[in-house]
Amino acid sequence: MQYPSIRDLKTGGKRIFLRADLNVPIEDGKILDDTRIRSVLRTIRYLIEQGSPVVLASHLGRPKGKIVPAYSMKPVAEKLKEILTETRILFARDCIGKRVEAMAAGLKPGEILVLENLRFHKEETANDPEFSRKLAILGDIYVNDAFGTSHREHASMVGVPAILGGGYVGFLVEKELRVFGELIRHPRKPYTVILGGVKVSDKVAVIENVLPKLDNLIVGGAMAFTFFKAMGLETGKSIVEEDTVQTAKDIIKAAEARGVNLILPLDIVCAPDRNSGDEAIVRRFDDLPADMAGFDIGPESIELFHRTMMESRTIIWNGPMGLFEISPFDIGTRQLAAFMADATTYGASAVVGGGDSMRAVREAGVAEQLTHVSTGGGASLKLLQGEELPALEHLRIEGVKPFIGANWKMNGSMELGIEYITALDEGNVNYFGADVVLFAPFTLLAAFAPLTEKAGIYLGAQDIFWEEKGAFTGEISAAMLAEAGCTWFLAGHSERRHLIGETDEIVRKKLIAGVTSGLSCVLCVGELLDEREAGKTEEVVRGQIEAALKGLDIVTPYNLVVAYEPVWAIGTGKTATPQEVQSMHALIRKWVAGIFGDDFAGEVGIIYGGSVKPSNAEEVMSGNDVNGALVGGASLKADSFIEIVAECR
Ligand code: PEP
Repeated sequence: MQYPSIRDLKTGGKRIFLRADLNVPIEDGKILDDTRIRSVLRTIRYLIEQGSPVVLASHLGRPKGKIVPAYSMKPVAEKLKEILTETRILFARDCIGKRVEAMAAGLKPGEILVLENLRFHKEETANDPEFSRKLAILGDIYVNDAFGTSHREHASMVGVPAILGGGYVGFLVEKELRVFGELIRHPRKPYTVILGGVKVSDKVAVIENVLPKLDNLIVGGAMAFTFFKAMGLETGKSIVEEDTVQTAKDIIKAAEARGVNLILPLDIVCAPDRNSGDEAIVRRFDDLPADMAGFDIGPESIELFHRTMMESRTIIWNGPMGLFEISPFDIGTRQLAAFMADATTYGASAVVGGGDSMRAVREAGVAEQLTHVSTGGGASLKLLQGEELPALEHLRIEGVKPFIGANWKMNGSMELGIEYITALDEGNVNYFGADVVLFAPFTLLAAFAPLTEKAGIYLGAQDIFWEEKGAFTGEISAAMLAEAGCTWFLAGHSERRHLIGETDEIVRKKLIAGVTSGLSCVLCVGELLDEREAGKTEEVVRGQIEAALKGLDIVTPYNLVVAYEPVWAIGTGKTATPQEVQSMHALIRKWVAGIFGDDFAGEVGIIYGGSVKPSNAEEVMSGNDVNGALVGGASLKADSFIEIVAECR
């Protein structure tokens, strides 16, 4: 799914309706944690620097449609004044109405109007059309940077963009989508998801969606007791979600069938009730006292979870391990927060979502060390369920996400790579909206992995072997590539077809091996010069595509890209004309549709390769069916590669 990015927005000084999630904790008018305010500053600055007035809207707390002074947005406006000292910031005592409209209309370029809490009107959560209309009057262009609320179908989230004819996602939403998109599509293995909190029912859809790619599923918090009950164990007075016991049994079976380690606590901190922390005792999971309830995971569980985390390359954590708000039942959750930071230090990608786990990593002072701390618990769960966020549906743009690959072939070195990836990072190469993939030689992959991850680009292998392991001297399996940090691989590159002698059959075996192991494939196809001169281009290319893909049910538009690379254009300085490229790509899309149907073909990336360079990139990628490029020679210098990526739209 693609959404228009604020980067592509030239505001022309128009008034922006910016929906942010500034739902910060406030006590006695004082903001306890301003993270949510700081996380949208980049978007605010970007808009006011373009000379646009900004109307800033948010909810705060759950006032349930009533005016509750403790939930006023005034302290947020004051905080913004402290931070943006050069900017004139006004506060409106309501979020709709004639007075607010006049204030919005009177804003000068670069000024901000902070609206009063949207949820002081019950119409906000009811997604009332009339309320949406009143809000929409306040702006010309809609920008959503409220990731934490994007799973909600509220008036300011879905009604306003519908009226304003779509809108843009801000920098925060864009980053959240990128991080979760990468984790969902390409988790580095071993892949561990840690779920806590009370309800299994809240997390079932997440478990179902992540299970096929998962290595370890750790369950803590009160959720664990529903699993213990499903195993026929005594759970005492602990919270059990009775109507989800069968679901827990199904999850246990599904994990077993898929070879996923379902890891439950080994020991539990029990007490007569939540206020009797001083009477707490530790008991094994299969020996819980009938007259007590479990409130936290015990030391052996902490040790087990720690070991699993340290062996993982990707960890996602959502939900506390115990009754985190009451000491001494906060220990498990706090320890896990520290372990997330340890795991990151050892090279894992560690991502946290969910209010309590976020609070734990912040209080432990480790938030900055983690790969990502999401600003949205519910929204991140929705993404992990594999669903689109409802608030983004109105912003969606049809089309295929551009893909630009740098194929270094047998070139490059460690030193060059470090400089190169740093230059890509500093040149913000991932900001042009494309999936950018560096296909480096095998020997450099593992060393490059942390750097590419930081730069927000993917790592790809130039080749793969189809067997899992064994006596195949010199070959590299899909699992080895994944371990080195690769998410993509090339299959069928012309240099392997024509110099090494790879057949269609071999290409297909490689594609199947890589995709089955969770990697994504760039399938290269293309005709030789004499085939072209004999008028056989279509026959050859169609044959290669069908030989590789026909009858496969493992490929999706998200794990496959087709690269049309006429062999006579590779490394020769000769390029096909933009018309030739477009008409060949349209045919490829038709042939793919013949195998997988129109919907698949409409979403799959078809890219061009063959002497693409900065001077011809725009033209060559201009056709409707051209979704990017595979770049050889011109990708060896970071500057020229960035220039090509910048032309991808
Ligand atoms: C390639 O190797 O896939 C390629 C397209 O190379 P070049 O850009 O050098 O033609």
